Amino acid sequence: MQKLNREIEAQIDCTKCGACCHQLMVNITEEESVETAEYLGLSTSDFKEKYVESGGGKLMIMNTIPCHFLKDCSCTIYEKRFTECRAFPNLDQPNFNSRLFATLIHYGMCPIIYNVVEQLKIATRFFKEEI
Ligand code: SF4
Ligand code: SF4
Repeated sequence: MQKLNREIEAQIDCTKCGACCHQLMVNITEEESVETAEYLGLSTSDFKEKYVESGGGKLMIMNTIPCHFLKDCSCTIYEKRFTECRAFPNLDQPNFNSRLFATLIHYGMCPIIYNVVEQLKIATRFFKEEI
């Protein structure tokens, strides 16, 4: 999985896609809200009021889908994008089996996942051989 991911990821330009930024809910941390507010020249409270919804726990979510910071398929805060944004689609992480559902649910959205899964099918001889 990780080997296939490295090969496929190198061939796909996320800045020409942006599908995850169009469709996913992004969780951010308190620390990220402080850093991003500073980056945007806002107070943390103004940043939260404008961009974030808090469920009362430690994590917050961006309050729009698509993400506020997406413009023409590009992230306008790319250097400061959130940890979840950097990590998606998480195919470089160990224990893929434990994230199978969370990954395959995005099979039709993310070209990286789609191509890795399709290559994985070939590598594992997923298809029945014709008799
Ligand atoms: S912060 Fe940037 S990378 Fe993350 S969802 Fe928004 S536009 Fe996409
Ligand atoms: S959906 Fe996949 S290919 Fe598209 S921008 Fe997100 S991570 Fe990159």
